[in-house]
Amino acid sequence: MPKRLPAAQYIDGLLAHDRLVLSRAITLVESTLPADQALAQQVLTAVLPQAGRSVRVGITGVPGVGKSTFIEALGMHLVEQGHRLAVLAVDPSSQRSGGSILGDKTRMNQLAAHPQAFIRPSPAGRSLGGVARASREALLLCEAAGFDVIFVETVGVGQSETAVHGMVDFFLLLMLAGAGDELQGVKRGIMEMADAVVITKADSGNELAAKRARVEYQSALRLFPHAASGWAPVARTCSALTGEGVPGVWQEIGRYLELTRGNGAFERRRQEQNLQWLQQSIREALEERFYARPDVAARLPALQQRVMSGQQSAFGAAAELLGL
Ligand code: GDP
Repeated sequence: MPKRLPAAQYIDGLLAHDRLVLSRAITLVESTLPADQALAQQVLTAVLPQAGRSVRVGITGVPGVGKSTFIEALGMHLVEQGHRLAVLAVDPSSQRSGGSILGDKTRMNQLAAHPQAFIRPSPAGRSLGGVARASREALLLCEAAGFDVIFVETVGVGQSETAVHGMVDFFLLLMLAGAGDELQGVKRGIMEMADAVVITKADSGNELAAKRARVEYQSALRLFPHAASGWAPVARTCSALTGEGVPGVWQEIGRYLELTRGNGAFERRRQEQNLQWLQQSIREALEERFYARPDVAARLPALQQRVMSGQQSAFGAAAELLGL
């Protein structure tokens, strides 16, 4: 098969809900080759009217909290109800070619084999900005290909949660009972972004600790200022192992959708996200062009030295480079 298809083949394939074409279109948006990027934008523009109709859910939590097991359990519940689910990963630390931990065959076995599910690992070896952009565009492609629920999974470390929060309707934070916020690397900022906190592994004698943690997180969540959406974030417990509490998480998301679609907050959040993406794309493109200039590249090392050694102010050096 040729590496690159004509634009019409991508577009027709996506609109026909062809998963193989979806895979190849995602590979295209992940590519950094200018020719691929131009084609990717052409395809995205054409299918954009068919995108946007899914529920986008961000799922985060530290490694080992049970993200993939939870996604498998909730995902199976959803496909059994007739939903078509796509799972994308945002994992900037991923170095392996062919994807991140999400690409491991051992993860999400049942879901990966289900005809109504589509699982795509994070592109490897890219910066957070690059991964986030590729994932956002992949999300739109999945929607155009008929997936009505999209999970965006991210490992709860670093800045990737903020990036994922900026591309989803509902943000879910998975937590362990009794491990302590510090240990879980959960910063206040991440809690504040959460629309729901779910305490995982509430089974095998861990039920009471999970319940206690739920009460604690529920009161912690109440301390945050009220969201403009009118939604009060909830804490719940669940076990992906027994399935207990898993459908309840989906019911909460349903309550959220009903509220925010009714009061306009859903649409507003998406509009704000689009605007932020526009601003970010402009910033990134300007920066890229700036650093790509031969005169900037030639002058930059010397100026960096001068700024480091205190011979020149950072502001002055920046002004000189921008003056080129
Ligand atoms: P991830 O790194 O966040 O994706 O976590 P995994 O889904 O890979 O789970 C980490 C470990 O926790 C695995 O050994 C799972 O079998 C276990 N685990 C996940 N969910 C549950 C659960 O609901 N109950 C129990 N007892 N173990 C679980």
